[in-house]
Amino acid sequence: MSRKKLALFGGPKEFNFEVHNFNSIGDEEISAVVEVMKTGILSKYIGAPGIDFMGGPKVRELEEEFSTYFGVKHAIAVNSWTSGLIASVGAIQVEPGDEIILSPWTMSACAMAILHWNAIPIFADVSKEDFCLDLNDLRKKITPKTRAIMVIDIFGQSAKMEEYRKIADEYCLKLISDSAQSPGARYSNSFAGTLADIGGISLNYHKHIHSGEGGIIFTNDDLIARRLQLIRNHAESVVTGEEASLHTNMLGYNFRLGEIEAAIALEQLKKLSKITNLKQDLANLLTRELSELKGLGLPSLSEDYRNVFYVYPMVLDHSVLGVERSVLVRALRAEGVPGLFEGYQNLHLLPVFQNLKAFGSTGWPWTSEHISRNLYKQGTLPVAEELHSNSFLGLGITGLDFNETHIRSIANAFKKIWANLEFLK
Ligand SMILES: *Cc1c(COP(=O)(O)O)cnc(C)c1O
Repeated sequence: MSRKKLALFGGPKEFNFEVHNFNSIGDEEISAVVEVMKTGILSKYIGAPGIDFMGGPKVRELEEEFSTYFGVKHAIAVNSWTSGLIASVGAIQVEPGDEIILSPWTMSACAMAILHWNAIPIFADVSKEDFCLDLNDLRKKITPKTRAIMVIDIFGQSAKMEEYRKIADEYCLKLISDSAQSPGARYSNSFAGTLADIGGISLNYHKHIHSGEGGIIFTNDDLIARRLQLIRNHAESVVTGEEASLHTNMLGYNFRLGEIEAAIALEQLKKLSKITNLKQDLANLLTRELSELKGLGLPSLSEDYRNVFYVYPMVLDHSVLGVERSVLVRALRAEGVPGLFEGYQNLHLLPVFQNLKAFGSTGWPWTSEHISRNLYKQGTLPVAEELHSNSFLGLGITGLDFNETHIRSIANAFKKIWANLEFLK
């Protein structure tokens, strides 16, 4: 690699393309929306017993198609995956004060869905290998109050579900999985999101496939499915008679997806494998291109959609590089590389957990004596904290409309900088 002058120091930029946001909405979605508009039925839900309690024709078709595609007994459409997470935590019949273990390396909705039911999010550290819950730390965080494990398939890769299932079974815990970033990813021949008691995906606009807003919950359990359907649609007005004794947490929500969004999502599902294939191919190309660079931890090459790469994750080894992450990122951005971000999430350090203020001003639901005051202290999750503040570097590979030329050019920018590291020290 030649030692061309870095753009940071006035040299020519390596990456000279304008990259637009990834957009998979086309004529198919437009026609589908027009068809729904012509029927005049934009939603058909009624929050009362009867046939329309389960939504309109497009919502039902969507649920049918997603359950077939993902190979799961029930696919339940909701208006966002955040709603899906809230419904999921409610549907395992969590009690106030129960604990649910999750990693801090995820979107805030995961922890908020737990708090929502007055349950306590307990964070365990992540593994540096796949950024999912570390199995040893997970075991350490289990108490008699633990009710469930929430596993997040972060960045496009399924967590090692067999391992979490073993632990869940050993302690009689429920398993919830969040595959918002991993629709179409596979683990031992099953789709991500279908191997927990409850899982699901997001249909928000910045995920692989979308309908603007929306979410799909997956479960193979009939009773859980019924609870999810009830929570979605004003539960308490419908749960009567004998059925009432089967359920708790039947607060009345409106988590219903509209017919237009359902029609769009149906078209998007047809494009899922093509989109995930493209993202996987681009990510694998980048991995091959960058594999010689010292001090740069890369994801392993992915086959058969094992990883659909919502984010392309990299880990910098400072002891090898001798250059701060922020300096490298400044140099890469100067070369024109788009879509880079430093660190990801440390949910335990959010103000809500630092101040213990969720419901009212008295610290509820953290008021039990059993709860340690140091629960969310900085320093308690060293791997997640180190990744966030020092070594993790992400490339948003799904949000931008990258092609192979772009990826090769990004790789060249990395190589140029790695050939000039001494000037960045
Ligand atoms: C996007 C996302 C969510 C929330 O999904 P919405 O449909 O936007 O509510 C939850 N968890 C993870 C990991 C996400 O990436």
